Amino acid sequence: MGAFDDKDLYEILGVPRNATQDEIKKAYRRLVRKYHPDANPGDSEAEQRFKEINAAYEILSDPQKRQQYDQFGTIGDAQGGSGPFGPFGGFGDIFGDIFDSIFGNFGGASQGPVKGQDIEMRLDVSLEEALTGVSKEISVPRWERCKRCDGTGAEPGYGTKVCSVCGGTGQVEQHRRTPFGSFVSVTVCPECKGKGKIIEKVCGECGGSGKTRVYRKVKVTVPKGVDTGVRLRIQGEGMEGLRGGPPGDLFLVISVASHDIFKREGDNLHMSLHLSFPEAALGCEKEVELLDGRYKLDIPQGVQNGHVFKIKGRGMPRLRRPGRGDCLVHIVVDIPKKLTDKQKGLIEALAKEMNVSVKSGGFLEKLKNLL
Ligand SMILES: [Zn+2]
Ligand SMILES: [Zn+2]
Repeated sequence: MGAFDDKDLYEILGVPRNATQDEIKKAYRRLVRKYHPDANPGDSEAEQRFKEINAAYEILSDPQKRQQYDQFGTIGDAQGGSGPFGPFGGFGDIFGDIFDSIFGNFGGASQGPVKGQDIEMRLDVSLEEALTGVSKEISVPRWERCKRCDGTGAEPGYGTKVCSVCGGTGQVEQHRRTPFGSFVSVTVCPECKGKGKIIEKVCGECGGSGKTRVYRKVKVTVPKGVDTGVRLRIQGEGMEGLRGGPPGDLFLVISVASHDIFKREGDNLHMSLHLSFPEAALGCEKEVELLDGRYKLDIPQGVQNGHVFKIKGRGMPRLRRPGRGDCLVHIVVDIPKKLTDKQKGLIEALAKEMNVSVKSGGFLEKLKNLL
């Protein structure tokens, strides 16, 4: 927790100090979606941010705690310690809050049905798949109600007992002495997190959270023309709803892999075509392998290094619109690095014919003997 102590809670959520509760809530939801561990598997920095964001929101979303924080820059806790995150323990506590938020208890929600949270995931596709579109079956991690305990978090056969810290009220009083006088504030009980009850024996399956991680197979259709950063929405494949509410949605953020041959630029594709010096000088016909098949390219004589041929309509399809981009073929004229004596002689002859002076190796004389 020490790492957060110096950080300003408003800065963590990226809101001004005079932000309304609504603005704070919006900023929080946006950040939680971005840094959620499910969206950033294995990213410890994102996890750290996620914890900070949750801890900052816990204080700033509560008008009383926020006022206290604004005034003293700190929130005391029941054990008499101080620091802005006093009422929180370790990761487990915060994760408890996340579970609550996943299941819709956002900022003290009503008892009615609540829509499940959305899930955001990255989906990798190849350039070829982006060209044609593709159907994929993916595995989506979700939190679902634990089947062993039916979401109660209690081992079957065991019940709950009244919380000994708050006596079942779910709240604790905090007495604080400050230079301005004594204050009493009421906050959520850190032991039972406001529920007033403690589970007698935690469920062996879910560890008391009431939720288990389940990998759900989802079939998705990736439309042709997708590019990195495109978000696909799959309705109803997010987290379970609460109290009969509909499930959230699944958002897939597309990441198109880079290609060995083709470089994509919007809907256009770029590729290089290597020509030998004689091919470039005299012209030729080349069969070029485009991303979607072969194309016969007629190279006129005297084509220059760096010249670009535009093959219309052979680039990437436009996403959800008719038409396609172009394929741009960049000419690279190769100068030979290794030559036989005979080839050197022929080039010397060419140099002589073109009236240019070159470093002579006497190959022209040798060539005459060879011919
Ligand atoms: Zn369970
Ligand atoms: Zn309690």
